[in-house]
Amino acid sequence: MVVVMEPGSGDSQIARVVEKLKTYGMDADISRGEERTIIGIIGDEREVDFDSIASLPGVERAMPVLKPYKYVSRHVHPEDKVIDVEGVRIGEGLVFMAGPCSVEDEQTTLRIAEEVKQAGARIFRGGAYKPRTSPWSFQGLREKGLEILSKVKRQTGLAIVTEVIDSEHIDLVGQHTDIFQVGMRNMRNYALLSRLGGASKPVLLKRGDSSKLEEWLAAADYIVRNGNENVILCERGIRTFEDYTRNTLDLNAVVGAKIESFLPIIVDPSHGTGRKDLVLAMSKAAIAAGADGLLLEVHVRPETAWSDGKQSITPDVLREIIRSCKQIRDLE
Ligand code: PEP
Ligand code: MN
Repeated sequence: MVVVMEPGSGDSQIARVVEKLKTYGMDADISRGEERTIIGIIGDEREVDFDSIASLPGVERAMPVLKPYKYVSRHVHPEDKVIDVEGVRIGEGLVFMAGPCSVEDEQTTLRIAEEVKQAGARIFRGGAYKPRTSPWSFQGLREKGLEILSKVKRQTGLAIVTEVIDSEHIDLVGQHTDIFQVGMRNMRNYALLSRLGGASKPVLLKRGDSSKLEEWLAAADYIVRNGNENVILCERGIRTFEDYTRNTLDLNAVVGAKIESFLPIIVDPSHGTGRKDLVLAMSKAAIAAGADGLLLEVHVRPETAWSDGKQSITPDVLREIIRSCKQIRDLE
């Protein structure tokens, strides 16, 4: 952090800043110019409460120098992280996670699971708890949905990823899933993220739809800081002025996340586009950009899906996506 003092600030005000920095265990490097004094912090500024410095008398600005995340930074850990989920190695080769938006009745869900397995997916997705924009929309089968997910795993051998929306559900959801999904609405739920830091299973952290890359990585830091290093990033599109698509799939962030962090990254072109006719092309683009895999909404009869049917592809399209994405990866 660099603290810029107001012109004419006095020695006592400078001393107060230095004193405050000392309470955080930091040292100060004072540089007195003709008009202003600038104070540089010696120590890890992330330990310092920014506002407590910026609000001191005589302080004009307090500017961060370091990124707001630390544990997930590639500087800390130059090698790519590989996360093993039931023998599926995420971050090494391509991984396909596929299934319906919501867990539906047992028969339909099992049928979709068999089909996505045949198409080449290794991980089954499906929401038992659905955080919907409207309280009048279907909220998920909840505990019943979790039981169905366990049955999918028993019958198909596929690993499971499903969303957890509340800290109080972590133990229960953890009995039925192999990966906890944190949805875009909860990316800023720091209490939930911190609690997942104590969980023994990996977390798939979706990007908030109006969160910057830096904020998303800081959210991942909450999980890692609390003890769980197994975080998988998931780009799922952000809000822009464009309404041709449901969201704008931000492939810049895929490349950026790989530069800034060592964590694996999965792309969700289903929510990223909201349109099944765009999913194949954006899947290929995501893999070309360096994604480690895809999270796809797949349904045997998309027109009857309980949620997000407009963006759900059929198992045949999934097969085509997996085939062409593997070809793209082989070109590298
Ligand atoms: C989902 O994956 O079904 C979902 C709700 O995703 P998001 O949080 O990205 O909207
Ligand atoms: Mn969905």
